[in-house]
Amino acid sequence: MTTKRRVAVLGATGTVGQRFIQLLADHPWFEISALTTSDSKVGKRFGDVTAWHVPTGIPDHVKDMVLQPTRADVDADICFSALPGDAAIEHEAALAKAGHHVFSNVSTHRMDPDVPLIIAEVNPDHAQALTAQRRGRGWSGSLVTNGNCSAIHLTLALAPLQRDFGIERLLVTTMQAVSGAGYPGVPSLDAIDNVVPYIPSEEEKMVEETRKFLGTWDGARFVPAAITMSAHCNRVSVRDGHTETVSLTLRGSPSVVSVKDSLRAFRGRPQALKLPTAPLHPIIVREEPDRPQPVLDRDAERGMASTVGRVREDAVLGLKFVVLGHNTIRGAAGASVLNAELLLAEGCLG
Ligand code: NAP
Repeated sequence: MTTKRRVAVLGATGTVGQRFIQLLADHPWFEISALTTSDSKVGKRFGDVTAWHVPTGIPDHVKDMVLQPTRADVDADICFSALPGDAAIEHEAALAKAGHHVFSNVSTHRMDPDVPLIIAEVNPDHAQALTAQRRGRGWSGSLVTNGNCSAIHLTLALAPLQRDFGIERLLVTTMQAVSGAGYPGVPSLDAIDNVVPYIPSEEEKMVEETRKFLGTWDGARFVPAAITMSAHCNRVSVRDGHTETVSLTLRGSPSVVSVKDSLRAFRGRPQALKLPTAPLHPIIVREEPDRPQPVLDRDAERGMASTVGRVREDAVLGLKFVVLGHNTIRGAAGASVLNAELLLAEGCLG
C-alpha cells in the first residue's frame, strides 16, 4: 500500500473500540482519522473520558483526538464498527450508502441475506455477495460483518474438519469471559464466584452464524451448511478469553491423529497473502492434558489464533475437543481488521 487508508472507529471508547485502537495504532495500511462516541462525550478528548482497559497504554496520537458523533459524513474511507445494536441499526447502513466500507462487530446485520459474514481464513469467497449488496441496495460503499465472539473460534476449529471430513452433528458448551459483555458489562456481584448459564440470544447466534460461515454463496443467496447442532452458552468469571468444549460426529469417523493433522495444517488467504494482522498459524493444537486455558493461551499469535486441545474420542458423538480464543481480539476487533485487510488486498473495496 502506498497511501494509508483513513479509518474511523465507531464506538471507540468501549471494550471492542479500544481493541481496534490498539490493533490500528501502528498499522501499515490504515490510519485512524476519526473516533466516534455517543452524544454525551462528543467534543471531548478521548484520553480524558475513556476508561482504558487494554494492557498497552493509549497510543499517544489517539489521546488528544476529539470524539465525534457517528454520522454518515465521517472523514474515513473504512469504518470499523463497535457500536451497540441500536446505534448500528441507525448508522451502519447509512454509512455504507454514503460510500463508506463498514466492517462491523455488531449482530444487527450478520444474518441479512446480502451481508457477508466472514472469517478471513474460512469463507473469503462470501465477499462476492458485495456485488449483489451494492446493486440491490444502491450503495457505493459496503457492509461486511464478523461473527459472534464464540462462533468465530468454534468455526475456525470446525472449518478444516468440515472441509477434510464433513460434520454431521455437534454440541458445543461455552464458558465466556466477562469482557464479552462490554464495559461495565456484567455487574461484579453477578460475575465473581459465579457461572451464569444464560447469555441472551447467544445460543441462537452460535448455531445460525456457524452454519452461515460454513455455508456457501451460490451467486444469489447464502446457503447454510447442513449441520445439526446445539449450543449451551455460559458466562464465567474470566476476564478475557472464551473456552468452548465441543463434541461432534465427523463423516467416516477419522482418527484423532487425522483430526489433529487437519487442524494443524489449516491455512487460508490471510496466510497466503501475508496480511499484516494474520496469524502464522490460525489454529494451534496443544498436547498437554490441561490446555488450553484462558490465562495461558488467549494471547497466542497476538490474540489472533484459536487454540485447540484435548482432542480425543467421545463415546456419544465420536470426537471431542476444547477450543479457546481471545474474544475481543480474534473474536471481535482483530477479525474485522483482518477482513478489511483481506478485502483491500483482493481489490474488493475499490
Ligand atoms: P461496550 O464496551 O459497551 O462499548 C460500546 C460503546 O459504544 C460504549 O462505550 C458507548 O460509549 C459507545 N456508543 C454508544 N452509542 C454510540 C453511538 N451512537 N456512536 C458511537 N458510539 C456509541 O461494548 P463492546 O463490548 O465494545 O461491544 C461493541 C459491539 O461489539 C456490540 O454490538 C457487541 O455486541 C459487539 N461485540 C462485542 C464483543 C466482545 O467481546 N465484547 C465481541 C464481539 C462483538 P460512549 O458512551 O463512551 O460513546
